[in-house]
Parts: sequence; C-alpha cells; structure tokens
Amino acid sequence: MNDLYEPQVIKSILSRHGFTFSKRLGQNFLTDPTVCPKIAELGGAESGCGVIEIGPGIGVLTNELCRRAEKVVAIELDSRLIPILAETLSEHKNLKVINADVLDLDLNHLIEEEFRGMPVTVCANLPYYITSPIVMKLLQDRLPINAITTMVQREAADRLCAPLGTREAGAVTVAVNFYSKPEKLFGVGRHSFMPSPNVDSEVIRLNIRKDPEQVPDEEQFFRIVRGLFTLRRKTVLNALSGSVLPDKAEARKVLDAAKIPPDVRPEQLVMSDFVSLCKVYCDNAEKREASI
Ligand code: SAM
Repeated sequence: MNDLYEPQVIKSILSRHGFTFSKRLGQNFLTDPTVCPKIAELGGAESGCGVIEIGPGIGVLTNELCRRAEKVVAIELDSRLIPILAETLSEHKNLKVINADVLDLDLNHLIEEEFRGMPVTVCANLPYYITSPIVMKLLQDRLPINAITTMVQREAADRLCAPLGTREAGAVTVAVNFYSKPEKLFGVGRHSFMPSPNVDSEVIRLNIRKDPEQVPDEEQFFRIVRGLFTLRRKTVLNALSGSVLPDKAEARKVLDAAKIPPDVRPEQLVMSDFVSLCKVYCDNAEKREASI
C-alpha cells in the first residue's frame, strides 16, 4: 500500500482491526512521507541486498525497504500488528515477518538462514524504550552486517554519536565506537509521527567497523568502561579505585603504565586510553594470579 502515511488511512486500518497504540511498546508510527524513503536509501537497501527491520509497526518503512532490497525480514513484537502487516504489505513477495522480541532472537542464525551470503543491513525506527539494549545486542552479537540505520530519540542520537573525550560521551558511546563508526544523518520533528511523542528524533547510521578494537578481554574492557562512567564526575584515579580496582596504589600504577594522568575525568578519555587501560589491567591481573 502506498498511502500508509495518510493519518486517515492509518486510522481506518487500525480501527478496522480494533488496534489501539501501546505506549509501553514505543508505538509512534511515521506519517511524514519523506522520511522512510530517505532511511531506506541512506541505509543501503538496494537490489542484491538483505535488510532486517526491527519494529515494522503497520509497515511504512517496510514498504520502502521491500521496494528496494532483495529480501526483507521484519521483526515485530506486537502480535496484533501481524494481521495488519499481512494486509498492508500483501503485494511484497520478498518479505518475511517474524512475530518475536528482537532481544530473544539468535540473529546470527537468522541471517545465515534467511539471507544466505547476501550483504545484509539493519534499518529501523526503533522503539525508544529499548534503543540502547537493541543497539548493543546488534553490535555485541558481531553480526555480519554493513550498518545499522535507525531513528532514535534526539538525546539518544547525541549520546550515541558524541565524540569520545567530550561531556556528551558515555559508556554506550565507547561501546558504539568500539564496533562501529557512528554518524548523524538527519533530524525528524515530533509532528512526523502518530501519535506525536514528546521528543524530537534523529536518524543515525552506525557503520560497522571491519577492524574492531583489539583488547585482551572484551568483557573486562566493558567492565572497566562501565565502572569508570558510573563515577564520571570523579577523577579517573578515584573512579578506577572506586569501581574495578579498589587498591588505590595499584590503580595509580595501572594509570601510570597506561600513560593516563590520574586527575583527568573518565569522560575526557578517548578510545586509545580505554584500550591501553584494559591492556595494562589485564596484564597486571595475570601477574597477580600468577603470584598467588
Ligand atoms: N516502523 C514503524 C514506523 O516507523 O512507523 C513503527 C515504529 S515504532 C517507533 C516501534 C515498533 O517496534 C512498534 O511497532 C513496536 O510494536 C515494535 N517493538 C517494540 N518493542 C519491540 C521488540 N522488543 N522487538 C520487536 N519489535 C518491537
């Protein structure tokens, strides 16, 4: 269907199916006809390429993706939307809709089964209540994908795309930069949705790095990053000793070996600092274990 952007059309389909919006599931459907074609194009949906969409809603973005890509797999949690999607997207034979919580799925397996060697990309207008967990799952599962192009709340875009070493950066910024190169694409006002959310949005693209950072232990790396950012207003020495390394003298030695001044704030650190810190920390942990 091509008129899925029309509020009257949306209302009539939804009322015929007895559907009411769920705030809990972050259901704000796009009604601005200029946005979805841009997401699909900038997201790299093109012939020969597979696309995973998360949260198709009534299918506005899905429609644009199906027109351009070889195959689209759309994952929707709300079972009430499945018969609606069957109606609105009935013309597309290159679409598979899966009724599931994306957080529960083995996406590596899904990609292998559904796309069989095709280049794959992720496009979405993510539900805002779980933006970070979904983005982190997509990145940490190390999926064979080129990019994640998604609409997020403007504040989330600012955080995810903040340059490292600035006040806007957080633990999630480090994680995003570990696996990808994030960029902001364009802004979308709150009145482009039905119902209108209380916030503006931004479309971002996380370009998956072919050369993710090398650290001795990824779990320890993120433990250190999270530990430091929970105490982000303290000096890095106090943040380190207040989190993963309680022995302050040892924390000072580790910072010294990683060439990080003890009095800077965690939010001033850049990727190479976190990586050095993790290397020295893991090295020291091995030595500590060996001497026991
Ligand atoms: N793509 C549509 C659009 O742009 O109009 C709808 C986007 S709406 C912001 C988010 C969609 O994600 C809703 O359809 C919601 O039901 C779905 N959703 C929420 N949580 C989900 C989850 N854990 N897994 C899959 N879909 C989810």
